[in-house]
Amino acid sequence: MWEPLASPLVRKLTDGEMPPLVLPSRPPLAELPSIFDPADLEMSVIALSELRLEGRGLGTPGLDDATAWVEAQFAEIGLQPAGDGGFRQSWSWTGGEPARPMILTNLVGRLPGSDPSLAGQPVVVLAHLDHLGRGWPDVRAGNEGMVHPGADDNASGVAVLLELARAMKVEPPRPRPVLFAVVTAEEAGRLGSRRLLEGLKSAGAPLACVNLDTVGRLADGKLLVFNADSAREWRFLFMGVGHTIGTTIEIVTEPLDSSDQVSCIEAGVPGCSSPPGPTRTTTGPPTPPIGSTARA
Ligand SMILES: [Zn+2]
Repeated sequence: MWEPLASPLVRKLTDGEMPPLVLPSRPPLAELPSIFDPADLEMSVIALSELRLEGRGLGTPGLDDATAWVEAQFAEIGLQPAGDGGFRQSWSWTGGEPARPMILTNLVGRLPGSDPSLAGQPVVVLAHLDHLGRGWPDVRAGNEGMVHPGADDNASGVAVLLELARAMKVEPPRPRPVLFAVVTAEEAGRLGSRRLLEGLKSAGAPLACVNLDTVGRLADGKLLVFNADSAREWRFLFMGVGHTIGTTIEIVTEPLDSSDQVSCIEAGVPGCSSPPGPTRTTTGPPTPPIGSTARA
């Protein structure tokens, strides 16, 4: 071994005065505008958590109004209707407290892809619209009868879904179609997403689901990704996301969350999700192992 001579890459820390080791920060060479509009996101969250909607409880006029508002957004963005009639996928259900018959409604819109051979294998982006209303089916002691506006759970997820659709609509189409689904009755046992997946499976299997639930906060500054073991590729996709957006990504493989991605996994479609609120307890079934993997 011999010492390099006169190399600008070598600095002996034992020679004389220490140089300052912290580089002064410099502005980036370019500051690109975000493709997501914070004002749009905020407007959606405010519109969906207005008190007059009374917490978007199942079978209430508030949830009906919120559904109509999202439906109008789907039309304005220019998504293709992909429900049973227009954007809506509706069916009747009896339940609630007291039990009564009601119409449940999912909204499904589509961005077509450019590769016809992938037309039957869309990626599904999901977010649930319903919340706890005045405290059904879940309420903390002391909050009975009070409006639960549900800004974070899950106006935030619907807001991100709409903004993503808006951003993707003005870009050249990807090869693969994307289905945007705003589903109902998550709080009552994922009825909406289970119904959605039943319908999609009969038309060919989606490639994968990404569920957005309670995305209004970054707890501990980290983005948690649940059920990322439902496909081998998720871990690597989200490593890339972390590098791109500069946020720590934590892959959570324990089956802690029973949000709508579980309906995808039960149907054999890899699904992952952002976390539920930090204080929510979860009683869903453990994630079943699945054999299928996403083909990115
Ligand atoms: Zn939720």
